[in-house]
Parts: sequence; structure tokens; C-alpha cells
Amino acid sequence: MNERIQKLIELQELDLHIAQLRRQVDAFPQQLAEIERSSEAARTALASAKQRVLDLHKGRKKHELDIEDWRGKILKYKDQVLQVKSNDAYRALQEEIRGAEAELGKAEDRLLEQMVGGEQAEKDVKRAEAALAEAETAARLRRERVQAEREQVEKEMAEMQAASQARLAELPQDLVDHYHRIARRHGGIAVAAVRDEACSMCSVRIRPHVMQLLRQSEGQEIFHCETCTRILYFVEKPAAATAEAAPEASAAETGNQ
Ligand SMILES: [Zn+2]
Repeated sequence: MNERIQKLIELQELDLHIAQLRRQVDAFPQQLAEIERSSEAARTALASAKQRVLDLHKGRKKHELDIEDWRGKILKYKDQVLQVKSNDAYRALQEEIRGAEAELGKAEDRLLEQMVGGEQAEKDVKRAEAALAEAETAARLRRERVQAEREQVEKEMAEMQAASQARLAELPQDLVDHYHRIARRHGGIAVAAVRDEACSMCSVRIRPHVMQLLRQSEGQEIFHCETCTRILYFVEKPAAATAEAAPEASAAETGNQ
């Protein structure tokens, strides 16, 4: 195979690899955003648990004031009882006192409920804090993993890009332009192997005389697929691939090298 085609194949492998790494790099921001969102539910749960504690506290204040209020009324009625002159007024005041005591009892029950609810709400806050801490730890670990992966991918991409630049520098500019034009049109694949006398990318058969030229070509000539316009190359199948009985022969060959 001619040397320029060999370099183009290497260039294409590098470029395809770079494109794949770039897709990975492009996906990182979304991955990081997803990680941020992963602890959002725990954060919201904690905020609403805290809000409930505040609400209960406010409710408790109100019930405490109610209790004070009813106690004050009861004391006032009891004072008045001592000063009443008629039985009717006495009975009416007793009625007021019973009513106020019933209200006081209800307010005390509500306060107790609030206090029990408040304790539960405080426990819920603690639980929500623990859940958030856990979610944040998990998110931090995931973030670190993604960032390490990102650094690795970026490093690899820089190396690939340097190698790609080196290949480009070794090739004539017009061939490089030609390669890029075809690659742009064909999803980054400008150079195609010939397999079974057909273009491996578009599967269209190669004319016999072109096949013959490809087989012989050690020169600088470049052949294109007539259908997809990709640059063609042909590698003769090694004997071992066609004949099963080759392992000893190839081992011997390796040994001789
Ligand atoms: Zn083709």
C-alpha cells in the first residue's frame, strides 16, 4: 500500500477517535447538571421539614396565648362570683366559667398536640438533614469521578490531536484538503477498505480494472470509490486468514523475525 494512504488511514483513525472523545467531553456538562439535580429532592424535603417546624412553633404560640386568655377570663369570672347579689347572676357566671374551662381544656389539648407534632417535626428535620448529607456525599463522589474521567478524556484528546497534527504535517496539503472534504460529507470516513472486491463503506462493487490497479499500486496514485467517492485502499488477505492450517507457519515466521 502506498505510504500516503497508510498515513491517511492513521489520520482517519485518530480523527474518528478524537470525534468520539469530543462527544464524551460534550456530554460532561449534562452529567454534572444531573448530579446537581440528584440532591435537589433531599434539599427540598429538608426545607419543607424546617418550614413545618416553624409553622408548628407559630401555632404553639397562638395556643399558649389562647390558654392565657381563657385562664384570665376564668379568674375574672371567679372574682365576679364573689360580688354577685342575685342567684340568676350567680348561675350565669357559673355557666360562663364552665364554658371558659371547656375552652381552656380544648386549647390545652391543642397545645399538647402541637408539642407532640413539634417533636416529630424536629425528628423529621434531623432525618432530612441526614438524607441530604448522604445525597450530597454520593453526589460529590459522582462529581469527582466524572471530573477525573473528564481530565482523562481531555488528556487523551490532546494526545490524539497532537498525533493527528503530526500526520497532517507529513501529508501534502492538497491531499489533506481532499481528505477533509470527503470526510465532512461522509461522517468522518474518507478512506475505505476494499473487501470482497467492493467498497466496504457503500458496498458497491469495484470495477475489475480498478481492482487490478489497487492490487498493483505501490505508487502515488489514489483511487476513489465511483459511488461514494471515498479514497480506496486494498489489503491482500494474509494467507493465514484464508487457510486454517497456518498457526505453525505463522509461529515460525514470528520466530524468524
Ligand atoms: Zn463507496
